[in-house]
Amino acid sequence: MNACILAVGSEMLTPFRVDTNSLAITERLNAIGYDVRLKAVVADHVDELARVVEGALAWADLIVITGGLGPTEDDITRDAVARVLETPMDIDERIVERIKERFARRGLTMAAINQRQAMVPRGAVVLENPNGTAPGLWLERGRTAIVLLPGPPREMTPMFDAVIRERLAPKMAGRGLFRRVLKITGRSESDVDSHAQPIYSRWTAQDVPISTTILAALGQTELHLTAHAPGRAAADAALDAAVRELQDVFGPSVYSVDGRPLEAVVGALLRERGMTIAMAESCTGGLLASRLTDVPGSSGYVERGVVCYSNRAKTDLAGVPESLIAEHGAVSEPVARAMADGIRTRSGANVGVGITGIAGPGGGTPQKPVGTVAVAVIVEAETRVRTFQFIGPREMVKFQAAQAAMNMVRLLLLKLEK
Ligand code: ATP
Ligand code: MG
Repeated sequence: MNACILAVGSEMLTPFRVDTNSLAITERLNAIGYDVRLKAVVADHVDELARVVEGALAWADLIVITGGLGPTEDDITRDAVARVLETPMDIDERIVERIKERFARRGLTMAAINQRQAMVPRGAVVLENPNGTAPGLWLERGRTAIVLLPGPPREMTPMFDAVIRERLAPKMAGRGLFRRVLKITGRSESDVDSHAQPIYSRWTAQDVPISTTILAALGQTELHLTAHAPGRAAADAALDAAVRELQDVFGPSVYSVDGRPLEAVVGALLRERGMTIAMAESCTGGLLASRLTDVPGSSGYVERGVVCYSNRAKTDLAGVPESLIAEHGAVSEPVARAMADGIRTRSGANVGVGITGIAGPGGGTPQKPVGTVAVAVIVEAETRVRTFQFIGPREMVKFQAAQAAMNMVRLLLLKLEK
């Protein structure tokens, strides 16, 4: 079943407002098996909206329209839909009464313009709005259902939940789109795709088809698997098998199969082992500590983090010998290692991390260009030190450095387990 979502409101065609309703609507539609094939933001302009609705009627099983149900001249959704369907509109006296009551409860009388909100295209079902004046409307034309919802999210969401529950979900009989998000780090998007493509291309033809989308994000690649299934159990079985196939190919590069971010995965590994972590950060400026502590319950394993940005701080806070910095430079593997070792020893944590690099845009040299980052991770007797060459502006270098450090911690913890 194919759906179209239209957000009506000229304010969302300015740089100041975005349409968020369509995200909430998409989530709910996907959960019962609708594919959203088109969404659009349409100006408060009756001709414009009528044109778009007309186009969608040709193919959509469901058209959801939000906004433009208010009482003012620029609220044109009812008019546009009635025009396309060529249905006259009648005043619904029960709606007028309800609006009058709402006003009366606040000691006000209803303004004449609110009559507009009681205009109902003939044949439409009126949807209650417990949180506002504008009722919603449900109409059908051939195979297409058209739902009109108010714009304010707190009015729209409960009304649409009721529509899903009472009208749409029963038709879909438990069908749904079920998703899994696999996250991979330490490999490029093209590398991931070239290995994954031969696998996921077979999934579209199976009994429970799975469609796959690759999303490259900073420091990671995500594979979004969507199963079109008659029910949860069938979807889970197909998705579990699909995830296993990918894990066989990508091994420990897959850090999450349930959408969890890397900081949560690393946190869980530390917690399971009863280990604590301490970090000495230079170029990331505390970003690693910040991301690790974004996770609820991180006080159970984050011992401390220090930002040692200057050379003096590296010596004062992490015990890095001045001579080591003088010999190798602050951005070097020996210094990263000394930072990890120093913070680990001083804190008594199980895991020590040191990060030192050049975030840019200045400070690069031919030997150590902008984006050079040395990371050291020490867990008990094991040490890993690596130098990365990241690209992008300052905040991207910082993010990738924190990401790489967390991944090194993760891989070392997994390796030590064996
Ligand atoms: P009202 O009776 O409040 O006038 P309405 O159905 O006419 O309801 P709009 O006037 O179009 O709704 O929108 C009212 C407010 O709702 C907007 O100012 C905006 O803050 C919010 N809103 C409308 N559409 C959206 C959307 N697609 N996403 C997020 N917020 C929205
Ligand atoms: Mg409006």
